[in-house]
Amino acid sequence: MSEDCLFCRISAGEIPATVVHETGTVLAFRDIAPQAPVHVVVIPRAHHADVITLAEADPGLASEVLAAAGAVAKAEGLTGTGFRVVFNTGAHAGQTVFHVHAHVLGGGPLGALAS
Ligand code: 5GP
Ligand code: ZN
Repeated sequence: MSEDCLFCRISAGEIPATVVHETGTVLAFRDIAPQAPVHVVVIPRAHHADVITLAEADPGLASEVLAAAGAVAKAEGLTGTGFRVVFNTGAHAGQTVFHVHAHVLGGGPLGALAS
């Protein structure tokens, strides 16, 4: 737990969030500024900066994040119509919170990815 990390503080319950799925190791909550009709952020409770460092340090936990993203997609009714799972990684990708998180986006047609 990093005291100056926003998502560590959400995981610890110090900052409120609308939680939609949680286990002992992962947490999913609605994005505060949704970019799609459904926009949920999935994090491991343990602090890792991005998905690549997480996959190197703890591949089992990376799989748990993906499984939670799937559970969220199913619970939100996205699995039939399709959805996007995005890990922004680093500054050029627009990562602003350096605690790894998957964006689960769906609920309507999504725009093309930037090239
Ligand atoms: P990134 O830009 O790092 O890929 O994504 C960070 C995401 O966290 C953004 O979509 C942003 O809207 C979301 N976010 C930032 N602060 C908060 C917050 O306090 N609560 C919630 N629920 N989401 C947040
Ligand atoms: Zn953190």
